[in-house]
Amino acid sequence: MEASSVKHTVQLITHTSTGCPFCATFQDGEKIDENINHLLQEHGGQLLHVGTETSKNYEGETHHATLALIGFSVVPEKRLPKPGSIRFSQSGE
Ligand SMILES: [Zn+2]
Repeated sequence: MEASSVKHTVQLITHTSTGCPFCATFQDGEKIDENINHLLQEHGGQLLHVGTETSKNYEGETHHATLALIGFSVVPEKRLPKPGSIRFSQSGE
């Protein structure tokens, strides 16, 4: 796949745990390698770039993070849980 065919990119970064943007799979930010595998194998992504990012937190401490950019030639369809499987809890008044 040519990089020019990339239509959509997703950025992964350590220290940030989030859900997969395309399905309900939880992604632990510390396991960025597994998250990359997930996007490549489950959603047909292509690894575009891996790098490090250095930032400082509010206390002035330096943090190093690994980031990865995953590209897709087509935007994967979202596979969200079916409506009805999510229950909103409401406290009766
Ligand atoms: Zn997924």
